[in-house]
Amino acid sequence: MSSKLIALVTGANKGLGFETSRQLAQNGIKVLMGARKEAKGRAAAEKLQSEGLDVGFILLDITKSEHIKHVKKYIEKHFGRLDILVNNAGMLHKEEPLVSNSVETISLKALRQTFDVNFFGTVELTQALLPLIKKSAAGRIVNVSSILGSLAYQSEESEKFKPFAYDASKTALNQFTIHLSAALRNTPIKVNSAHPGWVKTDMGGPDAPMDVTEGAKTAVKLATLGPKGPTGKFFHFDEEMPW
Ligand code: NAP
Repeated sequence: MSSKLIALVTGANKGLGFETSRQLAQNGIKVLMGARKEAKGRAAAEKLQSEGLDVGFILLDITKSEHIKHVKKYIEKHFGRLDILVNNAGMLHKEEPLVSNSVETISLKALRQTFDVNFFGTVELTQALLPLIKKSAAGRIVNVSSILGSLAYQSEESEKFKPFAYDASKTALNQFTIHLSAALRNTPIKVNSAHPGWVKTDMGGPDAPMDVTEGAKTAVKLATLGPKGPTGKFFHFDEEMPW
């Protein structure tokens, strides 16, 4: 059994997931970097290993139950527990163009695909790993959400960016945070949602004001909360976001 904390980060081959893996490993945590494409996942892990960090690649498409089962077995066999789960993998469907409201036009296929990743895959993975997280002395679950999923924020008239499938899937993810944290209230496990900010990645685009180093900080902070830290909340850095 490893004395180091063990973390799993989904969608870790690029963007915020890659940087979150780097920052967690820089904190002395062993990080399993989940990625759905083997070559890209391995290359990402090798890059961080070349920086001297303790990371490894694991094949994980969160919409594939067989991958989830394998990841669970792997972690069980090698570590016997999981301390940190960062549910970072997410998608913004190409049918949802930037700066628009897609609610009248988005196909049900795109809506379902978005929910499959941002909500159903995340829930299935978390439920599967929960028995291993319960074996941790201080389990931490971070759901990487978005302020765009906030009902309070989206109901402000001034908010014009409304990719419907993405926003609704993140609203559902936030509800998962609230329900799971309530279910685990009498355990040491903390479950929170993170809003990274608008960050320069393939999803965020080149005009985003934040870089990934800053963007990963909220998830890293929530993944490494102490025993008195919050649970069932939604944060951007230290600021609590409205549901
Ligand atoms: P990104 O660069 O597009 O990265 C998304 C990651 O998710 C990629 O590694 C992608 O893998 C992975 N992924 C997608 N579908 C997957 C699946 N079925 N199984 C496993 N992995 C899957 O986007 P990002 O900006 O880093 O986003 C990371 C998270 O932050 C997302 O949840 C996003 O909603 C959230 N977020 C981002 C911003 C922003 O401004 N960038 C703002 C708020 C919230 P592939 O490379 O194989 O596609």
